[in-house]
Amino acid sequence: MSNPAQRANKLFVQTFGTTADDLYLAPGRVNLIGEHTDYNDGFVLPAAINFHTIIAVKRRDDDTFRAVSDAFPGEIKEWRFGLEGKMNPSDSWINYLKGFTAAMSAAGLPAKGLDLSIVGNVPLGAGLSSSAALEIAFGTAVNDCSQLRLSPLAVAQMAQRGENQYVGCACGIMDQMISALGEQDHALLIDCEDLDSQPVHIPDSLSLIIVNSNVQRGLVDSEYNLRREQCESVADHFGVESLRHVDLAQLESAKLALSDVSYRRARHVLTENRRTQNASHALEAGNIAKLSKLMAQSHASMRDDFEITVPEIDTLVELISEVIGDRGGVRMTGGGFGGCVVALVDHELTDAVVEAIESQYSEKTGIEATVYLCSASAGAARVDEEVY
Ligand code: ADP
Ligand code: MG
Repeated sequence: MSNPAQRANKLFVQTFGTTADDLYLAPGRVNLIGEHTDYNDGFVLPAAINFHTIIAVKRRDDDTFRAVSDAFPGEIKEWRFGLEGKMNPSDSWINYLKGFTAAMSAAGLPAKGLDLSIVGNVPLGAGLSSSAALEIAFGTAVNDCSQLRLSPLAVAQMAQRGENQYVGCACGIMDQMISALGEQDHALLIDCEDLDSQPVHIPDSLSLIIVNSNVQRGLVDSEYNLRREQCESVADHFGVESLRHVDLAQLESAKLALSDVSYRRARHVLTENRRTQNASHALEAGNIAKLSKLMAQSHASMRDDFEITVPEIDTLVELISEVIGDRGGVRMTGGGFGGCVVALVDHELTDAVVEAIESQYSEKTGIEATVYLCSASAGAARVDEEVY
């Protein structure tokens, strides 16, 4: 079977009747720890994964963009730079690309038009951030083809602006940053306050496993917004910009002045920031038992204090943790109310983990899980068809 790079080139020829000039790729991602900390100016520790969106491009002489994706066969979308118009909800996927060019145009940057064909193997809507992979592959292509010389971080910020202002999704910067800046065999510790980031080596002894619970996700947006408001109201209580500027001692002393819910929401964020930094040290030091404990504490905090897990996710985490003990860590990853679980486990236990999921999860929940065996991958880049 042809690889995604070959498929992108083939789709290009089929659609535009000529060959593409170049190929660009960007990865999906998984967050290892640090949940709901990004919008509180805290720490996150994502890794880019070896599932990619690939775009074949050909430069145009005008300012028109034409795009086709194998995920939406038969649709050729077209727009002109700076004339993106209003977001059209029925035009779902192209809005991520138009958002990027609209953000560029609003920033006063120029861009040359492109014809592009998009293929990939990041599952759409599974929580592995196919949307950021799409934006960053496109943004990297535009940056290169228009010779803008934006840094990968600037491309990520442009993509986030597009998603916030054009698509209308109040996402943080994590997904775009890790897709742009990921390094092979490393996670990235990101300080969401100043966007400083450091690669953190993942020990070679560990396998990266992502399991989609396949729970139908309801209420995600409203619950997400509610959590944001709850965090902001505690920050307001302390008269600070964000929960980043509150410490645990302060929170404890204000316990009686806060509602129980507000106190627990803030406690999750404050303790999660600490766990995320500690987990990055544990990874660097190869201290898997410590990592195991921190991931377990993170999951318990999301379940009990932040209340964003669901019974199926808790079941999945429990059954994996029974197999791995302290030879790996497991927790829910992503915004919550369904979605995925991430596990970093000793290679020797990978088969046993997969077997436990296959034999127990559907029996306990009535749902089949999807398992992705991954590795930490490099961020966005121009690629050759032969070396993909
Ligand atoms: P996630 O980012 O977790 O995969 P989202 O709902 O944020 O889920 O983003 C999924 C959407 O991103 C898809 O519905 C589609 O509009 C767009 N998208 C992602 N990858 C592609 C692709 N390869 N081709 C076209 N659209 C894509
Ligand atoms: Mg997304």
